[in-house]
Amino acid sequence: MNGKPASPACPICGHEVADPKTSPFCGARCRDIDLGRWLNGSYRMPGPPAPPPTAPPETEQSDGSAADVPSS
Ligand SMILES: [Zn+2]
Repeated sequence: MNGKPASPACPICGHEVADPKTSPFCGARCRDIDLGRWLNGSYRMPGPPAPPPTAPPETEQSDGSAADVPSS
């Protein structure tokens, strides 16, 4: 218990974060790297590609009611 706070480590390079202004990264360099990873991850969609649009199931609009047929 020395009272010394554990210095956070940069998630990018693992170095000690000396400047709290760039926390949680050790510097602007690693911050940009992390930003790039985010952008790349957002552009690259995980998972299988979307299936091609298929035609909707055929809906028979003919109701079958012969309205034009005179009922005599
Ligand atoms: Zn770093």
